[in-house]
Order: sequence, then C-alpha cells, then structure tokens
Amino acid sequence: MATVILVTGGTGLVGKAIQHIIDTEPEGSRFGKRPNETWIFANSREADLRDPEETKKLFEKYKPTHVIHLAALVGGLFKNMKYKLTFLRDNILINDNVLHTSYKFNTQKVISCLSTCVFPDKVEYPLDENKIHSGPPHESNFGYAHAKRMVDVQNHAYQEEFGCNFTSAIPTNVFGPHDNFDLEDSHVIPGLIHKCYLAKKNGTPFVVSGTGKPLRQFIYSHDLAKLFIWQLREYDDVEPVILSVGENEEVSIKEVADAIVKAVGFTGEYSFDTTRADGQFRKPASNAKLLGLMGGFTFTPFDKALDSTVQWFLQNYNNARTGKTN
Ligand code: NAP
Ligand code: GDP
Repeated sequence: MATVILVTGGTGLVGKAIQHIIDTEPEGSRFGKRPNETWIFANSREADLRDPEETKKLFEKYKPTHVIHLAALVGGLFKNMKYKLTFLRDNILINDNVLHTSYKFNTQKVISCLSTCVFPDKVEYPLDENKIHSGPPHESNFGYAHAKRMVDVQNHAYQEEFGCNFTSAIPTNVFGPHDNFDLEDSHVIPGLIHKCYLAKKNGTPFVVSGTGKPLRQFIYSHDLAKLFIWQLREYDDVEPVILSVGENEEVSIKEVADAIVKAVGFTGEYSFDTTRADGQFRKPASNAKLLGLMGGFTFTPFDKALDSTVQWFLQNYNNARTGKTN
C-alpha cells in the first residue's frame, strides 16, 4: 500500500537529517527508503502551521498516511528565556493544528517530537517516559516545555476518544549539519561552533556563556533520524519513547567547548562569561526503553559527530543558518 510520510519542520536540523538517511541508507534496509514510500519535507513557507487553514491545505495537497511532526518554534536557553509566551503560544497552535488535522484526515500514524526539556526540574534521575507530568519544568523554558508536554496529553485524549495512533518521541539535545548556527538564539553546540570560528578568524577571544559546569546528553542528528524511522515503522503505542544516548554519556559544557576548540583548531584566548545563565544543571535521560525495544543501536561517538558538524559548518558557512555575524 502506498505510504506518504509528511515530515513537518522537514527543512530544519532534524528534518534534514531524516532526509539524509532516507537518501543514503540502502533502499529496503532497516532505515532506508521503502519502494512504496513517498517522503515530503515541508517548511513554514509551504504552510504556516500556526494557521488552521494553511495546515488543512497542506494535508489536502499531500494526503499523508503518516506524519513525523517536527515543526516547532525552537531555540536554545537564551531564546527560550526571552520569548516564553511566544514559545508557549506558537507551539500550542502548531501542535493543535497538526494533531487535529491529522485526526480529521484519518492519518494512520503521527509521531510528534517533544524534548527532554518537558520533564520536571525537580525529579529523581534518570528521567524516564513515566515522569513527564510529575512536576513543573525548569523556569528558563516553561513556555516551550508546557506546550510540548501538552502533546502527550493530546495524544492520549485522541487515542481514547477517537482511537488515533498518535505517539511522541523525546530526544535530548540534538546537533549536526543544517543546525541553526545563530550566535544568540541557537543551541549551545551550533552557537559555540560559530563563536569559535569567528574568534579564530578575527583573532578575538572565544567566550562561552555560563560556568561551563552544566551537563547535557547530546545526540547526533543522523542517529536521531534513524531512531525516528525505527519509531515510525516498528513502534505502535501512545506512550513516548526517549531517543537518547545512555544516561552515563553526559558531557559538561566545558567539555563541549574544549571539543569545539580542538575541532575548529582555535589556539587563542578562551574564557567563561559567568554573568550569563547556566539554565538547568542537568537532565539525564534513560534510553533503556528504546534499546530494549530496538534490540541495540550503535551511536556515533560524540567527538566524531562534532567533527563532522564543524566540517559541515566550515564548508557551508555561506549558506548555513548563521543569523547576524556583526
Ligand atoms: P529547526 O532546525 O529550528 O527547524 C524547525 C523546523 O520547523 C523548520 O523546518 C521550520 O521551517 C519549521 N517551522 C517552524 N515554525 C513553523 C511554522 N509556524 N509552521 C511550519 N513550520 C514551522 O529545529 P530542529 O532542531 O530541527 O527541531 C525539530 C524538532 O526537534 C522540534 O520539534 C524541536 O522541538 C525538537 N527538539 C530539538 C532539539 C534540538 O536540540 N535542536 C532537542 C530536542 C527536541 P522554516 O525553516 O521554514 O521556519
Ligand atoms: P538547553 O539544554 O535547553 O539548556 O539548551 P542549550 O543548547 O541552549 O544549552 C544551554 C547550556 O549551554 C547552558 O548551560 C548555557 O549556559 C551553555 N552555553 C554556553 N555557551 C552557549 C551559547 O553560546 N549558546 C547557548 N544556547 N548556550 C550556551
């Protein structure tokens, strides 16, 4: 039977990675394209998903049988701190339109993308799929976190009232080619790659925000893409799955900055601006459910993935999403 997979947010970091895997893995393999599949990678120019009519037109055009819903207002710590209401509202609108339109069009399956930011700030670690609603999220991103958490509530309600096959994925911090490398609004890895590149080019200091002590779990976008494809084909349950490296693979922001300095080949002055926020100290998540279901998965080593990302950035500087550079 023909399968049409609509990837909302298909032109961003994660969407481009899914497209890369679909284009490069051997056809018919576990993560490769299947002969009966058509993949559609949509962006906001094709349909602004905050708008119900534009969402409906997108579904009318492609008639997706499956949706991987990635589209979201996305940003790192500092952007989340600045625009809490906008993160809350835009993401509520996008998610409500995508889920309700999927229901109306009898879409067979929807996987929506959450984030480990949705989890409570004060909770026993490691995070697992049962702890999403056990307390308030960290205040730095409560707008984004509440909007995203609500998707899990919606998924359960759509299943219980209408029998919809809606579920969600919970990735940790993601990085890779095609990320947003803006200096201020991006996540830590692309932001620091860009800052380190400019420091090397201009002979200026490389300044990392915060103390460098917080810990994060990073997943390479190409690995995450394979996990989404697995979830699309092999997982049918409303409960979310954390898509992550192991909880013992936390990396400090200082270790991230050191690895970037090495990959960029920067030898100048390097410091921490401790007047800037650290955000949540850590949020280690367990991938036991994922690995149990998949029967194992080999993640790309962090340094190798970081090096590929830096090389991609250097080779694509003129076309990358870099925001303002002055
Ligand atoms: P990204 O690179 O910023 O891409 C966002 C995508 O969403 C783009 O294709 C963008 O299209 C689209 N989009 C944004 N607003 C839209 C709107 N109003 N209507 C339609 N499309 C819209 O983000 P990403 O990092 O790939 O994130 C993908 C998903 O992963 C998101 O749900 C995010 O919450 C989640 N996630 C990300 C991370 C991370 O570290 N990056 C971690 C955990 C979870 P345009 O380019 O046209 O605006
Ligand atoms: P978070 O996991 O949602 O907090 O996302 P981020 O990717 O924004 O990571 C934030 C952590 O990296 C915080 O501890 C920041 O203080 C630290 N950090 C250091 N430099 C930067 C930077 O240039 N951009 C961002 N976003 N964070 C930085």
